[in-house]
Amino acid sequence: MRKVTLIRGDGIGPEIAEATRRCIDATGVKIAWDVQEAGVDVMETEGTPMPERTLQSVRDNKVALKAPITTPVGTGFRSVNVYLRQTLNLYACVRPCKSYVGVRSRYQDIDLVLVRENTEDLYAGVEFEKGKPATAELIRTINRLSTDKKIRTGEETTGVSIKPISVEGTRRIVTYAFEYARKYGRKKVTSVHKANIMKHTDGLFLEVSREVAKGYPDIEFEDRIVDNMCMQLVQKPELYDVIVTENLFGDILSDLCAGLVGGLGMAPGANIGDEGAVFEATHGSAPKYKGQNKVNPVALILSGMLMLRYLGETDAADRLEKAVADVIAEGKDVTYDMKPDRDDPTAVGTSQMADAIIARLK
Ligand code: NAD
Repeated sequence: MRKVTLIRGDGIGPEIAEATRRCIDATGVKIAWDVQEAGVDVMETEGTPMPERTLQSVRDNKVALKAPITTPVGTGFRSVNVYLRQTLNLYACVRPCKSYVGVRSRYQDIDLVLVRENTEDLYAGVEFEKGKPATAELIRTINRLSTDKKIRTGEETTGVSIKPISVEGTRRIVTYAFEYARKYGRKKVTSVHKANIMKHTDGLFLEVSREVAKGYPDIEFEDRIVDNMCMQLVQKPELYDVIVTENLFGDILSDLCAGLVGGLGMAPGANIGDEGAVFEATHGSAPKYKGQNKVNPVALILSGMLMLRYLGETDAADRLEKAVADVIAEGKDVTYDMKPDRDDPTAVGTSQMADAIIARLK
């Protein structure tokens, strides 16, 4: 029996985690769930949002299904989600965005895959607080990275975030995107950057993207500046196939792409490294819906479907995806966000939508 860590998260996390676990079990794949806690609830009792045993469980099992975890805005602890990806070196965040028949959207036939670099960029966590004298680390970093302005010891800084983009990290993620394209028969990879402005970081990302692309003559390559990419995705999403980009742009474009296929309730994802993988939805913990049995479980259920594929359970993954697609196409047992009118009283709850998917599976 395959052991998988299940991180229940916080906010809406526990509800959608339970719905997903039931759907995966209903496929008949035998999984021994190692249930672990992380997030604001466990922070209150244990003083840390990521207990060591949770991390160890993911290290041991090498595969995890993770529900969302809240990150305090502006203050408080750093993102547990980012910490997990960095600590386990889950460098590739893969987010397929696909239209399912019956979903409320202005767009049909969207079939994009966003590949986001997960460990570098402004998410590296190298930040310096406004008004504090520049630390030796900041001085070293800025003076190494910046070409002209040198900072001296004792000088006060403004708020500073450092954006590391390495040749190695870029080569790794762009290669991943091309290998993914080849494996899944996709035709084109688009590298997204802001190399016109950030010449030493995004310039490097573009240069390395071009270099990697030369090794894949069978796959078309192009690049886009990120602001133009946003407009193009809204106007002509059918022109794009696999998109590879840096961490922050990938985060933002993920939500944009989710909007094309019916919203965050429909956007699954996977964080993949050489040593393991953590599967999670694009969306967050939506705290205002906590405990209401209201939100759409599909993004996490489809993340579970991606996990089944990763585990080699292709038939179970196909059946689960079809069951989800059938329930959505029928449009009856779906949550509020999938109804034409969001106040539709016939919308069902999280667990009832999972029940309908399980009934289809059987
Ligand atoms: P969010 O994704 O939690 O929610 C934004 C809005 O999207 C919700 O108010 C809701 O209207 C909609 N939504 C999200 N998930 C939905 C679902 N399953 N079904 C239906 N509608 C859904 O984003 P936010 O409010 O910006 O962030 C809330 C918290 O989640 C923050 O603390 C943030 O840091 C965290 N977060 C965590 C992760 C993660 O765990 N990987 C990812 C993103 C955000």
